[in-house]
Amino acid sequence: MAKEPSTEEILQAVELHVARHGITARLSSPGTADLSRQPLLDCRIVRSIEKREEGRRRVPGRPADVAGRETYTDLATHPLDPPSDPSTARKVELVLEGSLGEAPCDGCDGGRTDCERCAGRGRLECEPFVECEGCEGGIDACWECEGSGRPRPRGRRTDPRPADVRQRVRCVRCRRPDAACPACLGRGRTKCADCKGTGSVQCPGCKGARRLRHAECAGTGVFTTWTGAVISHTPEVRRVEQSAPLHLRQPTDGAGQWRRTVLTTATEKLPDDLDPRHRELILPHLALADGEVGRRVTVRRLPLARVTAHADPDRVYFAFPSHTGIKVVERPSRQRVVRFTAVASTTLAVAVLVLVLVLVVLG
Ligand SMILES: [Zn+2]
Ligand SMILES: [Zn+2]
Ligand SMILES: [Zn+2]
Ligand SMILES: [Zn+2]
Ligand SMILES: [Zn+2]
Repeated sequence: MAKEPSTEEILQAVELHVARHGITARLSSPGTADLSRQPLLDCRIVRSIEKREEGRRRVPGRPADVAGRETYTDLATHPLDPPSDPSTARKVELVLEGSLGEAPCDGCDGGRTDCERCAGRGRLECEPFVECEGCEGGIDACWECEGSGRPRPRGRRTDPRPADVRQRVRCVRCRRPDAACPACLGRGRTKCADCKGTGSVQCPGCKGARRLRHAECAGTGVFTTWTGAVISHTPEVRRVEQSAPLHLRQPTDGAGQWRRTVLTTATEKLPDDLDPRHRELILPHLALADGEVGRRVTVRRLPLARVTAHADPDRVYFAFPSHTGIKVVERPSRQRVVRFTAVASTTLAVAVLVLVLVLVVLG
């Protein structure tokens, strides 16, 4: 682990950087530079939280996996290893010793029930005959007997018999030629297309099978019952950060040589070289949590120093250890940003004024 750079080392690194701008100053001399330590922190706390829940269970059939499950006698004291990696979730299903049983389904007979729609008959009643579509079953079934089979007395019918009789056929009831509706031959009704005149159709509910699979017991006729428990390990993640200002993030994240310490128990101490401010931030989050069975606390920190050189008021320097020595990143100082903004708005005001003058002149 790299040791924290000294003030002297930081100022020397900044001095070299400042020289690029043609400013030569001995920054380590008193009164030439200001340095403040602003270390960064990225702490990730992953806990594994255990829950134990018990209850009566009932499932259809005889699931093979239930019989093969590990058994317990006392859930609270049942031993279960803590997870090797607290960030992975886990669920262990257990069966109370001696509680496994079987109960027949009382809603069916061997997993089957009579089809409700046909009451177990497999067929549904259906009208064998339907009204003829050609004559609608009325007096037009036959010009002579009106579908009754007895020819009516001449002249009783008020409307004249049509001259064109080609569409008419011999009536099967009164036997008169060219008188009956060709669709029903004078009967006034035709065989039902659904049952072909038989008076019954296959039940669409069971497709004629009469009995159906009982959904509640999944067609098995039995239920498996037991007292079971679930022990779950659920990861909970918390993050405690002291991050760099946004304009610095990329270089410090990418090039910074972060120090890393990993703690895996609640009794382990935070590293000695941790900044007191960071220690204060992290400590409240480290108490043993309810149901905690495992943890991994990863503490990453990067020593960061902010340096300003009196001879160079336009810039602020940030120095931090990288894999290639102390890295210095420069940013415009606040005074310079303010001044630049002021200049920019003055320029804009002047530009607007010029534009107005031009418009006035042209107008
Ligand atoms: Zn059943
Ligand atoms: Zn029918
Ligand atoms: Zn007739
Ligand atoms: Zn007809
Ligand atoms: Zn049916």
